[in-house]
Amino acid sequence: MIMKGKKGVILGIANKKSIAYGIAKSCEEQGATVAITFLNERFQEKLAPIADELNCSERLYPCDVSKPEEIVALRESLKKDLGEIDFIVHSIAFAPKEGLSGRFVDISKEAFDIAMDISVYSLIELARELKPIMSDSSSILTLSYYGGVKYIPNYNLMGVAKATLEMTVKYLAEDLGKDGIRVNAISAGPIKTLAAAGIGDFSFMLKWNAAHAPLKKNITIEQVGNSGMYLLSDLSSGVTGEIHYVDGGYNIMGMPAVEFDENGKPHIAWNGEN
Ligand code: NAP
Repeated sequence: MIMKGKKGVILGIANKKSIAYGIAKSCEEQGATVAITFLNERFQEKLAPIADELNCSERLYPCDVSKPEEIVALRESLKKDLGEIDFIVHSIAFAPKEGLSGRFVDISKEAFDIAMDISVYSLIELARELKPIMSDSSSILTLSYYGGVKYIPNYNLMGVAKATLEMTVKYLAEDLGKDGIRVNAISAGPIKTLAAAGIGDFSFMLKWNAAHAPLKKNITIEQVGNSGMYLLSDLSSGVTGEIHYVDGGYNIMGMPAVEFDENGKPHIAWNGEN
């Protein structure tokens, strides 16, 4: 039981396809006591069976990260119900539709500000507001994507947000290290989730990744969940400020591996799996 005795909160479960659900499941299976959050009442009911499964029905709290008072209220609920906590999972991102397709140059300031506020600033705000109840051996984890490092078609505004998020992880890691708080990110390969459905041509991204990643298939929320659990646990007690790739190795590729048919014609290897 790697997470026995650990208590923490997981933000960003929309349904059972969410990456945050994969992380919560792995933590709970390894003995952690988890709390989860929902965006608004519409989602509270939808999350009830998931809370039940994760043994946290009495720790299902509202938290829209764009509302500072809800982050403060979350801290107070956690303090009352759990006392100290050992981990936070920030698995949240949002960009208005206009930022996820079309021409990058046309992105409005309003869309830019919303994406940065919800996808990046919320990590800083959560860390600051929940710090008073974090133990001196705790861990914060957020979720990134390779589109924050290199250009990915249609990822547009979210690419800029993820680049900012990855640097935020490093600056937070330095600042909070002296308090015994580690901060890391997982850069996950593409997975079909609600948030991903908003990205233009996402199914092509899935095919491309499976074709070109060394492991020749896409990753699952269980795989991200287990790596996330490791980064939240004491097994990774010497790791902070890290962007850990869980992407089937896609990020190491400088050029797609090409196979040649009997006529010497090149084609891209793909086993058809998504
Ligand atoms: P998801 O299931 O749709 O999760 C996104 C979560 O963000 C949802 O629970 C959503 O809540 C929540 N959220 C949005 N705005 C919020 C707000 N103002 N306050 C609180 N919560 C808010 O999608 P996911 O793919 O698992 O995404 C989780 C994280 O992984 C994101 O940071 C995403 O960028 C990252 N990621 C995803 C992929 C991928 O391919 N799927 C790859 C790499 C990284 P509601 O659903 O209730 O609106």
